[in-house]
Amino acid sequence: MELQASLFFWILIFLLYLLFSLLIKPKLWCNCEICSAYLTLSWSKQFNNLCDWYTHLLKNSPSKTIHIHVLRNTITANPENIEYMLKTKFHNFPKGKPFSIILGDFLGRGIFNVDGDSWKFQKNMASMELGKTSTCCYVFDIINFEIKTRLVPLLSKQDQALDLQDVFKRKLIVSLVKTRS
Ligand SMILES: [Zn+2]
Repeated sequence: MELQASLFFWILIFLLYLLFSLLIKPKLWCNCEICSAYLTLSWSKQFNNLCDWYTHLLKNSPSKTIHIHVLRNTITANPENIEYMLKTKFHNFPKGKPFSIILGDFLGRGIFNVDGDSWKFQKNMASMELGKTSTCCYVFDIINFEIKTRLVPLLSKQDQALDLQDVFKRKLIVSLVKTRS
């Protein structure tokens, strides 16, 4: 009799555990339009990559925010949300260990890969350095030189369409390398 009571108790605990885990577990499947398109890859018929599809969704979203429930992701292009996350309640949105581990080899313990006190310390150091008049003048001179000697001549030679995003990306890299050396 005691054995049966004990067995019943453990079965009850197991069933409660199962019920609890089903209730708090994230959705593995969602029937909303975005999740269905993501899971069936139907978005790829119209777009070449996920970024283009996300951009399309964000443009058409009244809140400029989309949720991909099956990935547990929220993507926003709403300036108010971005200000909330990056300024007003920044401490509520740490990068977290998974992010830091994945990018650890690439970013090390730099400002883009740390949280808390380490981030605050590095942010203050960067603000002090970037706020100096000498740094601003130095960066201005480099960018001014790049515009006059490379960008303007490149634009004046073009007789066909030019991918400005690619050009600006290259100029940014050149400018960053020069300011770091
Ligand atoms: Zn969904």
